Amino acid sequence: MPAFNTPDWMLTALDERRQQHLFRSTKVMASPQSTRLTQDDKEYLAFCSNDYLGLANHPLLKQTMADAAQQFGVGSGASHLVCGHLDAHAALEQELCEWLGYERVLLFSTGYMANLAVISALANKQRPVLMDKLNHASLIDGARLSDAIFKRYLHNNVESAAKHMASLGQAGVLASDGIFSMDGDRAPLAALANLAQQQDWLLVVDDAHGLGCMGEDGKGTLALENLSSEQVPFLMGTFGKAFGVAGAFVACSNDMADYLTQFARPYIYTTAMPPAVAATVQASLQLIRAPEGEQRRQTLAQHVALLRQRAAAWPYDMMPSDSAIQPLLIGSSEQALGISAALQQRGILCKAIRPPTVPPHTARLRITLSAEHSREDVEHLCDTLDAIFHDVSE
Ligand SMILES: *Cc1c(COP(=O)(O)O)cnc(C)c1O
Repeated sequence: MPAFNTPDWMLTALDERRQQHLFRSTKVMASPQSTRLTQDDKEYLAFCSNDYLGLANHPLLKQTMADAAQQFGVGSGASHLVCGHLDAHAALEQELCEWLGYERVLLFSTGYMANLAVISALANKQRPVLMDKLNHASLIDGARLSDAIFKRYLHNNVESAAKHMASLGQAGVLASDGIFSMDGDRAPLAALANLAQQQDWLLVVDDAHGLGCMGEDGKGTLALENLSSEQVPFLMGTFGKAFGVAGAFVACSNDMADYLTQFARPYIYTTAMPPAVAATVQASLQLIRAPEGEQRRQTLAQHVALLRQRAAAWPYDMMPSDSAIQPLLIGSSEQALGISAALQQRGILCKAIRPPTVPPHTARLRITLSAEHSREDVEHLCDTLDAIFHDVSE
């Protein structure tokens, strides 16, 4: 290979990240996504994926994808608006509408793109964006992609949101995660929906971590708070987490979907998701709605309860959460990395999440649970953390 001439500013930026214990890199997993992961020829018990229901490696879904590839081919070949929108896409959209009680659904290849699309299409110079401080990066980047005024309110603080609305003076777009991805806690959605309705703002809820695993029929955080499509005009969800597949959607009314179809550039200028993916997501949705899905949600909830009960004995606090995301707040990035490394030495993969993904001094061990874990798996994680904290305190 030729010797690349790396610019000094790049090397300096990398050095800074290393010194702050914030350097990040990708690791290769030599196994399908599951509670057991192989890395560097070693098998680990994993508590770091977002495959909350354990569907990513489900035999039925793997078969569905193989069959669907035979039927529909492997690529969609074009954007939705040109000729890449196949009957597999339409069928998935239809079933999502019926499940969630919305008039229309638009599909996206990733949740990141769905958020870029909806926020950047709705906001402009006359319509500001207001978001929770801890919203997912893709919502924030959607605001940046628009030329709107962009403000953030204090986390889960409806009063702070109301104050910002009053000072902005014009109606705009209010956006919140349903479950916060690095914290696991839930947004006060009913209160946010009321505020948005009173002030004539458009509410966008990103339920990437709630859909499939929470609420009646797995319908997510909206179901937990009995919210209708009228109260939440834009619901965004992803298929790469509880659904175990890939992609995302935005659910809204007919007119709003027409509007996004004209003005949401990340919807228009990209190739449609592979039709076999759409068909597999639909099979995953059917599983989520079936008794097997309910069973998996119950197992997951039992794991959450067990972990939180055992965590009471640890020298660090679990963050408030009843979702599959159960972060243990450590504070220092160095210590969080140390605990994660100690777990890895003992055969467990669980990642430290550090700034800038989370605010300064709030590095944490992000424990994620899956219905595919056994009770013994969760107990083993707790026993191992008991031992690590015992060693440290001596
Ligand atoms: C993961 C996630 C996304 C992005 O979804 P992808 O399909 O992974 O691109 C968006 N919002 C939230 C809250 C997420 O956790």
